[in-house]
Amino acid sequence: MTDIDLFEAETAVLANANDVLASDAAGADDYRVALRDLVQGYGQLMRESRRLIARSDRTERELNLLNSRLRQLSDELDYKARHDNLTGALNRGAVFDLAHRFLEDSSLSLIVLDIDFFKRINDEFGHPAGDVVIRELVNRLRKSLDGKGEIGRVGGEEFTVLLRNVSLDEAVQLAEKVRLAIAGELFSCLPSRAVTASFGVSWSQAGSDFEDAYARADAALYQAKHGGRNRVERDGPALA
Ligand code: GH3
Ligand code: MG
Ligand code: MG
Repeated sequence: MTDIDLFEAETAVLANANDVLASDAAGADDYRVALRDLVQGYGQLMRESRRLIARSDRTERELNLLNSRLRQLSDELDYKARHDNLTGALNRGAVFDLAHRFLEDSSLSLIVLDIDFFKRINDEFGHPAGDVVIRELVNRLRKSLDGKGEIGRVGGEEFTVLLRNVSLDEAVQLAEKVRLAIAGELFSCLPSRAVTASFGVSWSQAGSDFEDAYARADAALYQAKHGGRNRVERDGPALA
């Protein structure tokens, strides 16, 4: 491939002007022609430079715009990958990631809750109505926690609250508050029947295994279900 000299014309004009300058025989006409060509070439270069600068400014602005859109899309993707789209709560994977991270250097109380007889709600009112109940339940969960803890949806109608550096007693009290916020007032989307949930709570010291914390909270939840539902049970005192 041959190299193209972008400044071929300008180089020729400059060479001619140099020749005229170096020549003892050059007359006024030669100087005039050489100067005219230089002026024309110089003007042309200035116009081209202005056009290039304007284009590069425009390209830079477009690149900045594309960059910020890319960043926004990547944030949205990241959010979607970690959240449940029905409720906006953390999804199961994100709950486990976060819990592992918390347990690296903090103690952790875990509340697991599961809606009581949810299948009946679906059967009687339909799956879409069930979805609305799930959304209203998470809204009540959010309100009653008042910024404490991280809410997750770990199964269809099963949720968790991660409470970093919160004692078991305090977590049980919070779970009781949430239980009342759910059972204490009929759901606006389901005015003909009470919605309740059962709760299991465990506590784990820093450095311990989240799968074990989850199993213990789940066992407490199982007790709550078998004890009559709409109640909070805690993991055994020996483990607390
Ligand atoms: P229990 O009190 O023992 O928890 O009884 P349950 O009926 O709540 O429990 P079960 O596990 O028998 O039923 C849970 C139901 O939740 C079954 C499933 O169809 C429903 N479900 C799971 N995910 C969703 C969802 O995203 N939306 C709706 N509407 N229903 C769901
Ligand atoms: Mg259930
Ligand atoms: Mg369930």
